[in-house]
Amino acid sequence: ESYKRIGQVEDKVKAFLTLDEENARNQAKRLDDQLVKGENEGALFGMPIGVKDNIVTKNLRTTCASKILENFDPIYDATVVQKLQKAETVTIGKLNMDEFAMGSSNENSAFQATRNPWNTEYVPGGSSGGSAASVASGEVLFSLGSDTGGSIRQPAAYCGVVGLKPTYGRVSRFGLVAFASSLDQIGPVTRTVEDNAYLLEAISGVDPMDSTSANVDVPNFVNSLTGDVRGLKIAVPKEYLGEGVGEEARNSVLEALKVLEGLGAQWEEVSLPHSKYALAAYYLLSSSEASANLSRFDGVRYGHRTDNAETLIEMYKQTRAEGFGDEVKRRIMLGTFSLSSGYYDAYYKKAQKVRTLIKKDFEDVFEKYDVIVGPTTPTPAFKIGEKVDDPLTMYANDILTIPVNLAGVPGISVPCGYAANGLPLGLQMIGKHFDESTIYRAAHAFE
Ligand code: GLN
Repeated sequence: ESYKRIGQVEDKVKAFLTLDEENARNQAKRLDDQLVKGENEGALFGMPIGVKDNIVTKNLRTTCASKILENFDPIYDATVVQKLQKAETVTIGKLNMDEFAMGSSNENSAFQATRNPWNTEYVPGGSSGGSAASVASGEVLFSLGSDTGGSIRQPAAYCGVVGLKPTYGRVSRFGLVAFASSLDQIGPVTRTVEDNAYLLEAISGVDPMDSTSANVDVPNFVNSLTGDVRGLKIAVPKEYLGEGVGEEARNSVLEALKVLEGLGAQWEEVSLPHSKYALAAYYLLSSSEASANLSRFDGVRYGHRTDNAETLIEMYKQTRAEGFGDEVKRRIMLGTFSLSSGYYDAYYKKAQKVRTLIKKDFEDVFEKYDVIVGPTTPTPAFKIGEKVDDPLTMYANDILTIPVNLAGVPGISVPCGYAANGLPLGLQMIGKHFDESTIYRAAHAFE
């Protein structure tokens, strides 16, 4: 069924970088045989899934949408992929993204621009644009994305689907090609909150291969979907409805709050006073980490190697010049600069201090409230080409999602009405560390 739908819409949506029909059919066949024998045990038995192309899959090309990994076939599966196999899903293919997960529109992919299924002149968001578009267009039932500064929640909002960034440490990052290791998390993109809860449960848990994965219990998330939000204490940060947030996004959140109030929840306005510094801190910290992480792409160990070099140093330089796109180079330069001696204290260290203050803002609010609610993005999806030449406006898109990564807390985006141009809007719900259950409960009652 997935392949039938892909045949119908993929030339318009362009969500996949690699499709592996033969392998998917073999997986499905194996599962069929198990079914006949009564050996079907996986929680997600037979469900078709797409995987973002920065999550490694054994013998299945993994490019990070970069020329530098154009022909890279990994020799192992990421922990989340192994967990999917255990849950008995069927991997349909690998999904387009912004190169190395840097971007908000999928226009930074070295290979193709994925389109928004609601209107193909618009971007699907990014960097997990392929993950959101493939679910929204019905090509797969659900997908995995990754979120460093909003890359699951923002495309989920733009494409009208449900996307969750788990608490930092909830899901193993082993086999996720690192962008900014202290911020990256893998998470589920689905049509409904219930599907999302099932998929999170399947991929969660401590992993000896990732020392930053947390040894905490994985609850049965689906059990938390009671529909009951009576007495839930909601905080609405005034910074999330203020300057820079569009009229339509603001109104849709106010409408949503009315619905939640009708269900017995209470809300109050609060402040996250350091939000205004989050964007600057994020782009410094994430670029600094990226400059270190991406040093491994040197033409020796993986992927592309230039043909035009005489010496080793020339080979490194030329390989990276040919392999990386403009946005990736921009971030490596910014990160290298901010980590260099003489600038380290003024930039990197300062940004780390801001990060601590932002974390503290969230802790203060969570002393009194159960969830924080606001828009996922300041506006609905923009047109393809509209922001490509202006990195700063592109960065400003992430203003409401980034603080969540800096604080390490979980956040979900659920569909929340439509803008005048017919494109979906998203409602963001943010929870305490390891309390995905509460945001699932609230999101489920609302959806
Ligand atoms: N758009 C943000 C960036 O470009 C977020 C990316 C992400 O979450 N991977 O860095």
